[in-house]
Amino acid sequence: MQFKYTFGVISLCSVLLLVGCNNDHSSVSQISTVEAQKQELQPIIIQGALPIESQQMAAKLQNVTVETVGGWTFWKGTYNGYPMIISKTRMGMSNSAAATALAIERYKPIAIINQGTAGGHDPDLHVYDIVLGKYATNIGALKTPKQPVGGGSNSLKWIEAFDVLPTDESDPKPIQIRKFEGDKELLMAAHKVRYDKGGVVEGTIGSADVWNNELDRIQFFHQRYGTSVEEMEAASVAQIARQFKVPFLGIRILSNNITNNEAYNPRTGEACQDYVLHVAEEYMKSKLPK
Ligand code: SAH
Repeated sequence: MQFKYTFGVISLCSVLLLVGCNNDHSSVSQISTVEAQKQELQPIIIQGALPIESQQMAAKLQNVTVETVGGWTFWKGTYNGYPMIISKTRMGMSNSAAATALAIERYKPIAIINQGTAGGHDPDLHVYDIVLGKYATNIGALKTPKQPVGGGSNSLKWIEAFDVLPTDESDPKPIQIRKFEGDKELLMAAHKVRYDKGGVVEGTIGSADVWNNELDRIQFFHQRYGTSVEEMEAASVAQIARQFKVPFLGIRILSNNITNNEAYNPRTGEACQDYVLHVAEEYMKSKLPK
């Protein structure tokens, strides 16, 4: 009796709902079509080196499964219905390159965002500002001038960049600086997202397995390479993504800036994750069939 009554009320409601949406029995099925289209997209990968740069995003995914391959963790799930994978790459150029190659082979991502904390090279940038990597460049690939025994070492004279991806591998030439360009559509998606904890600027991300604390050296990179920030992963990921032709963007928040005496604040990692999840969502939205 109770069941029949409840069922009757539900049926009546459904009829009213359909009448309410009239003719093309529409919005309900439209919604489910969009949800299905979201599911059909290849996943976007968002990388963070450290737990403070990845865990918060992983916790926001729905339907999560965790995969561990070697030393690398991947959280696979959805965010507002869009397939996303959060990848903890661990720190540095080798770790992030390996995590990238593994992820591309396993998950065939639609795009990759490498994000996290960074140190300022530009005195006009402040802790909590975000740099969108119009370019990412390796600031550890260098060829030093010759010096005899006893000749000493002066890193300010290391002006020749070393190209790890020469066009002609049989006759590699010294090059100017190699910069990997950030994907334009990812950049566009990033510009659509509101951020109120600091500024958002386009710039160059410099990467190496080095934490620079020498102000003259930092100024050298800022002037010669045009770096806005330094960190230890983005250019390495860009180099791998380029060879697989996967769209890539580096997004970095300043957690410290020695050029204007702003101390390291690890909490910036959370603000960056929050921003980047929204960037990823914007990008995925733009990839839905029109
Ligand atoms: N508390 C730790 C922090 C390590 S941070 C320590 O002081 O050793 C190193 C990570 O943060 C790297 O993954 C790198 O990408 C990023 N990073 C943040 N600021 C950096 C800076 N100024 N130079 C290089 N890497 C930086």
